[in-house]
Amino acid sequence: MKRAASNFGIVYLVGAGPGDPGLITVRGREVLDDCDAIVYDALANPVLLAAARARGGVELIDAGKRGGSSESAKQSSINETLVTLARNGKRVVRLKGGDPFVFGRGSEEAQALAAAGVPFEVVPGVTAGIAAPAYAGIPVTHRGVATSVTFVTGHEDPSKPETQVDWNAMARAAGTGTVVLYMGVKTLPSIAHALTKGGLHADTPAAAVQWGTHSRQKTVVGTISTLAERAKAEGLTAPVISIIGRSVALRDEISWFETRPLFGKRIVVTRAAAMPGTLSSLLRARGADVIEAPSTEIEALDQAPLDAAITELSSYDWLVLTSVTGVRFFKQAMDRAGLDARALAYSEVAVIGPSTAKAVREIGVRADLVPERFVAESLLEAMGREELEGSRILIATADDARTVLPDGLRALGAEVTVVHPYRSKLVESGDEVDALRAAIDTGEVDAVTFTSASTVHGFVAQAGNERLARVKAISIGPVTSEAARAAGIPLLAEATDATIESLVAAVEEALAS
Ligand code: SAH
Repeated sequence: MKRAASNFGIVYLVGAGPGDPGLITVRGREVLDDCDAIVYDALANPVLLAAARARGGVELIDAGKRGGSSESAKQSSINETLVTLARNGKRVVRLKGGDPFVFGRGSEEAQALAAAGVPFEVVPGVTAGIAAPAYAGIPVTHRGVATSVTFVTGHEDPSKPETQVDWNAMARAAGTGTVVLYMGVKTLPSIAHALTKGGLHADTPAAAVQWGTHSRQKTVVGTISTLAERAKAEGLTAPVISIIGRSVALRDEISWFETRPLFGKRIVVTRAAAMPGTLSSLLRARGADVIEAPSTEIEALDQAPLDAAITELSSYDWLVLTSVTGVRFFKQAMDRAGLDARALAYSEVAVIGPSTAKAVREIGVRADLVPERFVAESLLEAMGREELEGSRILIATADDARTVLPDGLRALGAEVTVVHPYRSKLVESGDEVDALRAAIDTGEVDAVTFTSASTVHGFVAQAGNERLARVKAISIGPVTSEAARAAGIPLLAEATDATIESLVAAVEEALAS
């Protein structure tokens, strides 16, 4: 019996790319953002799942934990899961490392779906065999140097009689082109032997790239005769891509990723959950291996006081917004009230710093006042230069915000209404917290960045007292530095002005090799 196609969901076989989350395709991102379930592999970067987690209502299934112990039992269990989900009308993303059809068994899954009559789409990905070499400064083809590229599995040991790979042909391919070896870190010694036996010159350049395109990428270079030994000495374990051929030598000239100023540095970025990840992306762009430790998450509180204030918005002379999150809550309340930026025509708008200024700009309002230094004291000082006696001021801020500003404004004769549409809540446990502690314990953390005193308090709660003296702080400014010192965290550097850009500069100055 043929079932109507409309009863069916669909399975997208999506290549997640090699690791760097930026290397997923636009189509891949699109289906990820619009699916009901994700069945993912160990090699798909967990960062790609974060958005789905945040969106909520998406079923996340770890394919590695499916089925029995044998590979084939696992695979048939995955196939079954995909078919069942789709038959229940789900839009399923099967997220696979690299490209789904390059040594990824994606085609076996496609066969199972085809046999079951389940609609599917293949979304190719950037395969590790091209991307890992590229991030190591090795082009897989180069005019006059390598005229072909061959992808080969190292899963089969050439010394075993059952090998299906023609290693003599591979030896010839590596002579005039590039041979890219997947899954071959354990079998490397016997593969190298098979290649030289097949006639490949013993001096042919070769490289092994571990965790290619990730910030912890590690590259070992040698020749076909020395690579296996060197990779072993450096402790390389899967995932590793090995590259054999003369194009490896180009790395000396065009290595670009591993030469970035913060490459190899592990930096913990503490931040409030709702803050945009600008700091992380700026540090990553400089090559840092960023461990995100969102120390707080935003919790919405009763919106009624804000809603009430908004009904009489035009009676306020000033509106003060102290964070990007505050702007978000304000915008939502405006939407609920059916108002837009015109409702602020009679009020001056003050914000605490450039990020908040940018956020209000995005809702169609140009901030009238941004203080020179981005702290409450500076905002108070700047507002204090205006005539405030008898003026009405609305402040929307976090429940746990300091009271310097409202207190000071009242002292200047203003009538101040403070509403707290949200508060930040400490995150004290969970997988991320465990990972953070483990990284500190193994001595891998080069620095921890702090962008506010509350991120310091969050970090203290997450790391635990005994770890505080073992890390070094890089802080956004004096108030934050003082909080870090008071908590017993040694200070490594401080930003000259309280901006993210300045903080990044401080990190670079303190850590760049
Ligand atoms: N479909 C994947 C390959 C899956 S086979 C793709 O197209 O990339 C798994 C092998 O891929 C690993 O053993 C390793 O050889 C390679 N691999 C995957 N990701 C890698 C990475 N980030 N760095 C180095 N090798 C990687």
